[in-house]
Amino acid sequence: MKRIVIKVGSHVLTENGEISKIRMASLVELIASLQKIDKEIILVSSGAVSSGYTQLKLDKSFIPNKQALAAIGQPLLLRMYQEKFAKYDMLCSQILLTASDLDSRKRTEHAKQAIEVLLANKVVPIINENDVTATEELVFGDNDRLSAHVTYHFDADMLVILSDISGYYDKDPNKFSNAVMFKEHGFLNDETLSQEYSANNEFATGGIVTKLQSAQFLLENGKEMFLASGFDLSDIRSFLLDGIQKGGTLFRI
Ligand code: ADP
Repeated sequence: MKRIVIKVGSHVLTENGEISKIRMASLVELIASLQKIDKEIILVSSGAVSSGYTQLKLDKSFIPNKQALAAIGQPLLLRMYQEKFAKYDMLCSQILLTASDLDSRKRTEHAKQAIEVLLANKVVPIINENDVTATEELVFGDNDRLSAHVTYHFDADMLVILSDISGYYDKDPNKFSNAVMFKEHGFLNDETLSQEYSANNEFATGGIVTKLQSAQFLLENGKEMFLASGFDLSDIRSFLLDGIQKGGTLFRI
């Protein structure tokens, strides 16, 4: 496994309405460690809206306000990433995409060419949805689906989703204390994939369903997905750095 897409949700990056510097620092440290063992990492990062909200308190229930907050927050978010990566003498870069960019073969190819140059030069591409022209992920998904398409179109082997949950359970573990986590899971059935969306944080929009839809899309296209906690990176560290699965759910067939 050489090329990996890591997606970090807004719930993980945000604490008390602000970007959590500690969690961002741990994530960047993990990416730096992975680069040292010759992995190519593409980061898909949410967090622009919450970053913008630290500067201007607009009502987030109104989508145009969320778009405005993303426009304010995106450069702030990238500056924070730049500062953190600089500690490891690493460069990062910003790529704003929409789902429709990936519908066009020509635009996908343009993006891919740029990403190949960045990765060849050890620069970390940080992808987010271009929230000003596309609102789909702002409403639903929180980049879960975008990150699956990024994995597929930019030839990565695996998508890692770092979430507020430590894996995929047989039922919602926040509601049922007897929920059991799947260590591995293959294809998902239609009933599971068409469940209603749920999200348990004011900045999160996806819930588990968009993650499962991403897993299904990747499995159908010969890729794998790993769902693990973004609050505590020890499971993803041991999985990616030592090849040992201590926790998290691996979707594969
Ligand atoms: P993020 O913001 O990290 O992308 P979300 O909060 O949108 O993630 O989605 C994860 C949430 O989905 C979990 O906290 C959990 O409450 C909920 N959920 C519902 N059903 C399940 C399940 N079967 N397994 C795991 N999580 C589930």
